[in-house]
Amino acid sequence: MTQQKMKRDYISKFDGKPCMMVATFSNANKKIGSDVVQTWYFRNGIHIPSIERKHNRDFSVCGDCPMKPGCYVDLWRGPDGLWTSVLNGNCQPWNIKLFKDRIVRLGAFGDSLSHNVRHITDIAKHARCVIGYTQQWRRYRDSVARYHIMASVMSDDDAKKAKAYGWRYFKAVGDGYVLKRNEIWCRHYEHGLQCADCRLCIGQQDGKLLADVCTPAHGNRKKQLLSIIGRD
Ligand code: SF4
Repeated sequence: MTQQKMKRDYISKFDGKPCMMVATFSNANKKIGSDVVQTWYFRNGIHIPSIERKHNRDFSVCGDCPMKPGCYVDLWRGPDGLWTSVLNGNCQPWNIKLFKDRIVRLGAFGDSLSHNVRHITDIAKHARCVIGYTQQWRRYRDSVARYHIMASVMSDDDAKKAKAYGWRYFKAVGDGYVLKRNEIWCRHYEHGLQCADCRLCIGQQDGKLLADVCTPAHGNRKKQLLSIIGRD
């Protein structure tokens, strides 16, 4: 069955280059939940994302993300195929109403803050809830995006800064990490919950959601990730 998807062009906030946002309406990611809508942020029309990364041209959508060497996303697996399919015309025109009552995960690939903040608030207005993470909280510290998505952090120092700027954080940690008082484990890691049922990573909201979330470094590039996290 063909996956339902739609795309919208935009100009990168990071470097002014042409980009496209794609929304997909189903997925096979066991952690997320098959009905979760996901957004993807791509440099528009040059090479497949894995080639762009190899040549360090993914700044337009990933910015200066310090986690790139340990990135959770296997570009050749999802983003390359999706990018090619969309550029071959396999998508429908953008329609914000299709987000109505859906759970939306922003940034299956790329950073949602490479696009304007209004697209996040627009989606949040229609959706049941929005889940997401950004490495760009350092640059856009007082963005209203913090009411909807989490600051992705890699160290205690990072975490303190993110909190001071008013963000909730999601922190990758090393083996043997002991939670701080304000932290809980990702409920997928601890209880096997899917994001669709958990919905904890929804930003600061109205300030009532105070717990910050930690997850042990994992994935195909765990070794690289462990060498990055914890650096202050
Ligand atoms: S805490 Fe919940 S919403 Fe956040 S990543 Fe884990 S399962 Fe998903």
